[in-house]
Amino acid sequence: MSTAIVIGSGLAGLTAALRLDEAGFDTTIVTMGLGGLQLSQGTIDVLGYAPERVDNPLEAAGTRQDPHPYAVTGTAALAEGIDWIQRTLPDLLHGDGEHNVALPSVVGAMRPTALYQPSMASGILRDGLDLSIVGIRQYKDFYPELIAGNLERQMTPDGGRVSARACWIDFEVRDGECDSSAVTFARALDRDEGVRRLAWALAKIPGAGPIGLPAVLGLKTPNVHERLRELVGREVFEIPGLPPSIPGMRLNEALRALCTRRRIRLVQGAKVIGFDAADSRVSSIRTHAAGRDVDYPADVIIYAGGGFESGALEVTSHGRVRESIFGLPLITPDGALVHGDYWGEEQPLFSVGVRTGSDMRACTEDGHVVYENLCVAGSLLAGSSRWDEKSGEGIALASAVAAVATASSMKEDQ
Ligand SMILES: Cc1cc2nc3c(=O)[nH]c(=O)nc-3n(C[C@H](O)[C@H](O)[C@H](O)COP(=O)(O)OP(=O)(O)OC[C@H]3O[C@@H](n4cnc5c(N)ncnc54)[C@H](O)[C@@H]3O)c2cc1C
Repeated sequence: MSTAIVIGSGLAGLTAALRLDEAGFDTTIVTMGLGGLQLSQGTIDVLGYAPERVDNPLEAAGTRQDPHPYAVTGTAALAEGIDWIQRTLPDLLHGDGEHNVALPSVVGAMRPTALYQPSMASGILRDGLDLSIVGIRQYKDFYPELIAGNLERQMTPDGGRVSARACWIDFEVRDGECDSSAVTFARALDRDEGVRRLAWALAKIPGAGPIGLPAVLGLKTPNVHERLRELVGREVFEIPGLPPSIPGMRLNEALRALCTRRRIRLVQGAKVIGFDAADSRVSSIRTHAAGRDVDYPADVIIYAGGGFESGALEVTSHGRVRESIFGLPLITPDGALVHGDYWGEEQPLFSVGVRTGSDMRACTEDGHVVYENLCVAGSLLAGSSRWDEKSGEGIALASAVAAVATASSMKEDQ
């Protein structure tokens, strides 16, 4: 059986590992820490802005120019990635790759995304919606006046308006605690007693339209929003906020649980610090954990180490960017990487990343493949500002699909 190592356990790494397993590889994930999923909104952003608001993300992804990752992977890999994650987590992700919906953000912006959790669905913004945005006095960082006020100021994507009133409730989940975290609330709402107490508080909210709450509606129990609808007699939806993000944690937990069920090995707390290579192939990677170095041999490696935020890309003291494990070739824009206009154009630094061909193998400018059995996926790739254009999860899925396709073809060649 061919062995595969995935470096990193963000969305790109977990997707690559699960698809490698489906393709018949003996798969191990080696990861320094958790990926960015639990910081995320728990949605799948495919392409939100290009630079105007995008209605059909799959179609708009097809218009991206080289070196954007979508121009490298092609839209077939993206479509398969979206389809795959919906097949894999059918109860957790609704929507489709050909329509963006607009969801309220925690500051009252109308955020475009392609796939969303069912607990967010009744908050999809459209003309005529009458919303009650409800803050919980014991939960910080959620201000219904800010959200409701900003939502009323904007036009919905269908050219209409919503009305939104701000309300507050008391909902204490631990005796005497006045600033419980999202996780504490979510755990309390994993129990029916907690859901009933919240329903009782929500019954006093004026209006008849959907109620928007901070995204704390249960970590392990699916469909708390449906139970609240039964008890309150109104639609209830979640608005994701600051980390730790409960919807992001749900997505992460669901993918990790699947890795465990499929017996994919997960080596955590293991930083990859080096590797051995011969004849343009990486034969093993080296981790440093628990005070010693450990080598992991592999036939194929998929490197999904993230970008600057996870340390996979670093800026040296001479102001140059380098990829931190293999020293892979990067695409770096000409000129200054950081400019002084904070509110102006996107900083060029953020588009720096690894150069690959459509097979996701890192290559030089003239197309020379650096290591035959090393593919790259996710935020490490050059050519996009993922948080700005809202494309990070789509890029993670598309590139993981394309990288595993290359790994599978290498296996067949052996
Ligand atoms: C502040 C911020 C906001 C964002 N907002 C959005 C948004 O609104 N919409 C959107 O679509 N995208 C957004 N993104 C991008 C999005 O989070 C990622 O593109 C997406 O989650 C895919 O991540 P990934 O799997 O490639 O990497 P990550 O989730 O970063 O995971 C990288 C993994 O690699 C591991 N790793 C790194 N180096 C090593 C090493 N040497 N050894 C072992 N393991 C290692 C890390 O521990 C981690 O597990 C945002 C990103 C940031 C930083």
